[in-house]
Amino acid sequence: MVAREMLRQLPAVDEVLRAPEVAALLDFAPRGIVVQAVREVLDRWRRSIMEGNAPEGRRESITSRIVKEVREEVKRSLRPRLRRVINATGVVLHTNLGRAVLAGEAQEAVHMAASGYSNLELDLASGKRGSRYVHLEELLTGLTGAEAAMVVNNNAGAVLLALSTLARGREVIVSRGQLVEIGGSFRIPDVMAQSGAILVEVGTTNKTYPQDYRRAIGPQTALLLHVHTSNYRLVGFVREITVAELVSLGREYNLPVMSDLGSGSLVDLSALGLPHEPTVQETVAAGADVVTFSGDKLLGGPQAGIIVGRRQYIEMMRKNPLTRALRVDKLTVAALEATLRLYLEPQKALAKVPALRMLTAPRSEIAERAEAAARRLRGMLAGKALVEVEATFSQVGGGAMPTAEIPSAAVTIRPRAMSVSELAQRLRGGEPAVMGRLQEDRLVLDLRTVLPEEEEDLLKALVKAVLGGEES
Ligand SMILES: *Cc1c(COP(=O)(O)O)cnc(C)c1O
Repeated sequence: MVAREMLRQLPAVDEVLRAPEVAALLDFAPRGIVVQAVREVLDRWRRSIMEGNAPEGRRESITSRIVKEVREEVKRSLRPRLRRVINATGVVLHTNLGRAVLAGEAQEAVHMAASGYSNLELDLASGKRGSRYVHLEELLTGLTGAEAAMVVNNNAGAVLLALSTLARGREVIVSRGQLVEIGGSFRIPDVMAQSGAILVEVGTTNKTYPQDYRRAIGPQTALLLHVHTSNYRLVGFVREITVAELVSLGREYNLPVMSDLGSGSLVDLSALGLPHEPTVQETVAAGADVVTFSGDKLLGGPQAGIIVGRRQYIEMMRKNPLTRALRVDKLTVAALEATLRLYLEPQKALAKVPALRMLTAPRSEIAERAEAAARRLRGMLAGKALVEVEATFSQVGGGAMPTAEIPSAAVTIRPRAMSVSELAQRLRGGEPAVMGRLQEDRLVLDLRTVLPEEEEDLLKALVKAVLGGEES
């Protein structure tokens, strides 16, 4: 039979909708959802036929299979789509898994802000209208040493707002070694174009000197921009300009200097075995007039773009209409305030901010947890999979510290009755879903990114995925 004839064997949308089992779905699912499911299933069958797969059976049996698939599709659509995932990838700030896990204090603050009214924009002392930024500004200036601070939706928004405010229609000078792309669609040249500022590239990919900036500075220059190359490293024959050098040039020519730090840490993690990242305090102290960084990278808070710097520039940004479009909501204000409060005592932040705790946990601690989990798992799986503990490396993720390899320990699983990709797929489909790393013939589960309170659920999910495979 040619594909065209096979396609004619497929029922029409209306016919599927009239089938009693499908019609019954309308008692609990909106018609739009059911129709969408029917279209989706029929499309899948059509694609499969066009790819050369002949459907088996008569027309009636094809229709009844389609009806069954529609029921499953509708059930799937009615389940929440945003689901909990146990992150056993070892990538701490996994952007696809939501970056930073919030500290307990931040979770409570979100709950408070979500479950009632708050003084988000009310000054309780005077009873007058207030600003949602005051809750954060004093903390941010106190922690970073900057004169003023504000917060927007994310760091991409912070960079856009700063460029649009300080350099719209004028020139911004950036080193060619710093024209970064930060995943997704954040590329410095594109953000620059969007802001209305004109990009002036100087130097070369690997070497840029102060004289390169001097040659480019002219009457149209509005800003000298330094971008932290968060997600890659130039090594070898390299000369990059420092923020301090840029600041002294800025002073000489009376130009503001902005530093986009990206990952923006408030604690120096190099004392804890991680590579040195310039901290926000260091960058402010070096004299940068505007510093931007993310709330959900090394800070370990909610998604936000934080801007600190000289009061005159922050005031100009507040008045930019873009600020309203990039405004943070109350849940973000609540979570960020609670997270920043932990940093008032850096030891507290290290102990309570999950991202920092995960990044700095010693290998021995992870290895102990892995050994204990592996022992229990061996008992529970009764030989249906080979369970071992292996040395591995975790990563920071979120486009931060790309070269950092953090020694860690993982539980590895080689199922006997199914392929490792089948196991991984089962784990992704579970509730909660589990994400590990596929490595040749085994699934690697790095416990560094698994919260201790998630271990029980992780073991249950593994047992279900491995033994479930035996039964079917
Ligand atoms: C991550 C990053 C951004 C984008 O920040 P988001 O919070 O993801 O919007 C911008 N600039 C640099 C240098 C970054 O590392």
